[in-house]
Amino acid sequence: MAPVNDGRPTAPRDAETAARPRRVFVETWGCQMNELDSRRFVGLMSREGWLESSSADDADLVLLNTCSVRDKAEQKVYDYLGRVALLKKSRPGLRLGVCGCVAQQEGEEILRRSPAVDFVLGTGRIELLPAVVRRVEREGDRPVEVGFDLDEVAYTPGVVARTIAHRASITVIEGCNKHCTFCVVPTTRGRERSRRFSEVVEECRRLVGEGVVEIELLGQTVNAYSDPESGAGLAELLRAISSIAGLRRLRFVTSHPRNFGDDLIAAMAECEPVCPSLHLPFQSGSDSVLRRMKRQYTRAEYVDLAGRLRSAVPGLSLSTDIIVGFPGESEEDFASTIRLLDEVRFGAVFCFVYSPRPSTAAARWDADVPARVAQERLARLNDHQQELQLQANEAMVGQVLEVLVEGPDRTGKRVSGRSPFNHLVHIENAPGTPAGSFVQTRIEQGLANSLLGRALRIERAEPDGPSLPA
Ligand code: SF4
Repeated sequence: MAPVNDGRPTAPRDAETAARPRRVFVETWGCQMNELDSRRFVGLMSREGWLESSSADDADLVLLNTCSVRDKAEQKVYDYLGRVALLKKSRPGLRLGVCGCVAQQEGEEILRRSPAVDFVLGTGRIELLPAVVRRVEREGDRPVEVGFDLDEVAYTPGVVARTIAHRASITVIEGCNKHCTFCVVPTTRGRERSRRFSEVVEECRRLVGEGVVEIELLGQTVNAYSDPESGAGLAELLRAISSIAGLRRLRFVTSHPRNFGDDLIAAMAECEPVCPSLHLPFQSGSDSVLRRMKRQYTRAEYVDLAGRLRSAVPGLSLSTDIIVGFPGESEEDFASTIRLLDEVRFGAVFCFVYSPRPSTAAARWDADVPARVAQERLARLNDHQQELQLQANEAMVGQVLEVLVEGPDRTGKRVSGRSPFNHLVHIENAPGTPAGSFVQTRIEQGLANSLLGRALRIERAEPDGPSLPA
């Protein structure tokens, strides 16, 4: 625990402030797991009578749920902290907590760098939020909670404050044991801890009962899932969840190629709700780079896995992550990555320039790919992938896809949603179709990042949508 607050008095709440319910605002950076954790923060505080605020300006508590996967993301957090610190000067009763991966990684250092921060809450201590806020208010402490429970994920089922009625994400495993040499996740999220099988299935059942039609299972290495009681893996979990009547779509992310066994491929093929779409990072198409990244598979093994998946799951759409400019990446290594795009044909690619992260093995190596070269490779790779996506999407013209509507698109005149293959589809002739509806859509045009189509048949969600829990 850190020493008491830098001498600032704990401001009493004035009569007007005390009369209204208090508000929490969460700013989120990073991945889907952080997004979900932010909804857990809001849910935990709402159980204490707090409301959610849409802006830091009228909040009593501001939480920064941070990401440290790249240096840039971390820098944004410190920039934002400076802005909230200014806000605090005019409103001394405002509390400020830093949560998420930067909190886990930096701990007490955040309090030292930013006197305005009231507490630091790591990724393994989410459930302690209400208690930590009370401690700050009553005792004027500046707590730092960054430990991990070794075997279990502390996760209160049903606490997530959902904002979408028809779709939900659920964490099934936290942490990662792989230690890829570029990745800070094993430090910020700890070792793998899976939630209990029965608890996950029960949570899915409850969500489907509330009107959820699509569930996404989350984990840093989701296919390393292993029930702490029986050892049952992700394949068994997919089968159990797929049997819940009323569930239409089931997805899971992020998978590691090394953990993809035949049982999981079979489950994907056999379970009807499991979508024919999979995020499977390969990171580099060069074996020497993969070795230095300690990815635990070769280029050939990845290509073979993609082939076996596609044989079992017809039309399977793959997406992937790629790092360019990793230490030692030669022009030939990079060319091999581009060739892999041609061989595997991904539906989407998320490509990043390598960013050295503290406490990773690669951070100690000479970052010998100049920034200019790395940026140029990033641009070449993205351009190439855009061409491949355009070709693939143009080939979809004439096909009929089932689209799960998410709402109006940016034009406001069309609705958009996702196909089972995870295409973003804009529908021209179905304005006002509520989110959660299924629309059989004939594709009329393929663009690089989306499809345009016309509705043939609409299965409307209930007019007001299923109600969300308070
Ligand atoms: S498997 Fe993924 S989360 Fe785990 S260390 Fe590697 S990149 Fe990071």
